[in-house]
This record gives sequence, C-alpha cells and structure tokens, in this order.
Amino acid sequence: TWSAVAAGPPDPILGVTEAFKADKDPRKINLGVGAYRDGNGKPYVLESVKKAEEILTASNFDKEYLPITGLAEFNKRAALLAYGADSAPLKDGAISVTQSISGTGALRIGGAFLARHYPHSKAIYLPVPSWGNHTPIFRDSGLEVRGYRYFDKKTVGLDFEGLKADLRAAPEQSIVLLHACAHNPTGIDPTQAQWAEISDIVKERKLFPFFDMAYQGFASGDTARDAFAVRHFVSQGHQIALAQSFAKNMGLYGERVGAFSLVTADPAEKARVDSQLKIVIRPLYSNPPVHGALLANAILGDKALYAQWEGEVKGMADRIISMREKLYGLLTNDLKTPGEWGHIKSQIGMFSFTGLNSDQTKVLAEKAHVYMTADGRISMAGLNANNIVHFAESVDAAVKG
Ligand code: PMP
Repeated sequence: TWSAVAAGPPDPILGVTEAFKADKDPRKINLGVGAYRDGNGKPYVLESVKKAEEILTASNFDKEYLPITGLAEFNKRAALLAYGADSAPLKDGAISVTQSISGTGALRIGGAFLARHYPHSKAIYLPVPSWGNHTPIFRDSGLEVRGYRYFDKKTVGLDFEGLKADLRAAPEQSIVLLHACAHNPTGIDPTQAQWAEISDIVKERKLFPFFDMAYQGFASGDTARDAFAVRHFVSQGHQIALAQSFAKNMGLYGERVGAFSLVTADPAEKARVDSQLKIVIRPLYSNPPVHGALLANAILGDKALYAQWEGEVKGMADRIISMREKLYGLLTNDLKTPGEWGHIKSQIGMFSFTGLNSDQTKVLAEKAHVYMTADGRISMAGLNANNIVHFAESVDAAVKG
C-alpha cells in the first residue's frame, strides 16, 4: 500500500541533535536546540512553575475535558499579558481568544481560520529567513506562502529598506507574518521607531498583520517591552492576529500551552469569530490539554507567583545577554578573530545568527564537536561558563581556516 511513499527529508534542526548525541567527545556542545539551558547546561524548571504545581496538587484538580477553546480564565490572562491592561479592544471585550497547543498550534489555528474566513487574500508574507516551521504550517493551512526581505548578509543586520520595499510591493490586503520580538533565527528585531514605520506601511497597504510572539519576556527580560510591537499596532487601530507561546517564557515546552487571538471590531463580531474558531478547532483536536494551562493560569493569576515568574524570565534573559557579552569579548579582544562581531551583542533573544557559513559549521562539528544549524544559527542558551571558551576558540580556528 505504501510502496509509492518516498522517504521525506529529516527535520534540519532535530538532525543537529542526533549528530550531537552520536558524538562521544566530552567537549561536545549542542547549540542547535531551541530550549533554554541553565548555567550548567541543564534543562531548567522555573521555581514559579514548581510552586504552581504544588498549588494544583493541593487543590485536587480533576482531569476533565476543557471546553473547545480551553480554560477561559487562562485565555483572559494570556490576552492581558500580551495586549496590556490599557488595550482598548481588550477593555471593550472585542478580542477573541482561544487556548492553543503552544505557539505552533496557535499559528496553525490562525492559518486555518484565515484560509477559511479572510475574504481578501490567501497570500501570507514571511520574513526571509523565518522559523523553519512557518512555511509548512501556513502551506498546510491552505495559504500561499511568500517572502519579504529581512536579513542583510553584509551587515548581519536588518535589511530595513528591503523589508519596506517588499511590504509596499505586496498586493493590498495580503497577510504579513511579523515576529513580535526575538526574531528566530536571526536574533535581529526592528527598533521601536522602525516598528512604527512598519505599522504605517501595513496600514497604507491594508495588509493584515499576524504576530508570532513566542518569546515575550525572553528578549529583553521585560514582558511589556517585548510586547511593544503588538501593543503599538493595536493602538494604531490594526485588527491583528496573535499567536502566543508559553514554551520559552515559562519553560513549559512539553506542556504545549499557548493562545491564539484575533482583534475584532466589537463584542458582537467577537462572538461570531468565537463560534467559527470552535468550528475550526473541534475537528482538529477537540479540546486542548489541561495541565499546562492550569500551571500558566496559576502563575498569571497570583500576584506573588507572577512577580516571581517575571524575575525568573528576566534571569533567563540576563544570562543569555551575559553570554553574548562574554562571547563578543572573547572573539574581539582575547582571540582577535577576524571579522566584525558586534552583532553577537546587538542581537536579542535565544538565537544568534553568527555569520558563520555552512562550510565553517561543518568544520566546527567535525573538528571541534560543536553543533549548530548549517545557516550558522546558534542558541545562546547552549553556552555557559564551562564551554564558552572552547566555543570561541573553535570559532576562531574555523574563521582563520
Ligand atoms: N514561533 C517561533 C518563532 C518559534 O521560534 C517557536 C519555537 N521554536 C514557535 C513559534 C513555537 O513553539 P511552540 O510550539 O513550542 O510554542
């Protein structure tokens, strides 16, 4: 029956981890993973999450099904975290929110909803490059994936002129996907002034903005600051779509907790959108998992736990920023590695586009036991005091050839 099924290519990111696992050298470093690691290279369960677990256990919660759109209280609190208490549509009850299977599920619900109900276009413009899963998610949702310029190889920075030109050239009312903060894979975000310009172009061209916010709090350590783009767009009257993930900022990766929301015109429109979101979700997975949503809800809904969580998010962001500074110092001052490395410090969030090419990443894996994706992206979270010198020296050797 399946003789005509051809073998598919392996996932480019998960392939890095497999090569890493097969390597027996004690100096090996995996910079391919998209999950936070503590200063000892270990997975990190937040203390606020552990406390929330205790609260849940003590409350003797059951394992009943959630409604199709998930835990209502969690949805409310997730939206508050993203849009802020001053958000006009939030205060007006005009934002439709559903719990989702983390950020991926939120993007997929959004893609499916837009494919079915957005009357103006099937085209969605993604930054080039973007997170590797964006293309298959939106393609499989029934949208037509196109690209807008984002990364400038020469400066290892934002190609802002290219971005603006491509958004201006996109057909009116096309959908545009924007990374709210900590752009993956480049680690390069527009400045607040640039976001304001992007918002103006999106308005001029009547584009539909779909934000992917997988790293709120993780970029700067401040959840409000990281939500700037989302809140600015909403304040400018854009009716946005938003995918939220609690994988990174609460360390709830495998719990799969996230939210999808749509800003609508008024509560009556919201109610109609709510009903259609249920019709999209019901045949996909019926209703979302309960445990992670209860944890996130407990943290977001308790003043003391919330404050503790904010401190822990900042702790993760700060450790990453300190690794950026250390790496920059090693390459520039200690090793005098040829090239300009300022981008290591100016980039933001978990990932950094190092500027290393695929030949250099190959040499790093084979000679130095250092693993990263072939595009030269590293997860800063994989670096720590024990391995950063080996990493910097290996990069130095690879660059000097
Ligand atoms: N969007 C971006 C940009 C991401 O980097 C990720 C995680 N790698 C996600 C969405 C979704 O992750 P998850 O489904 O685990 O929330």
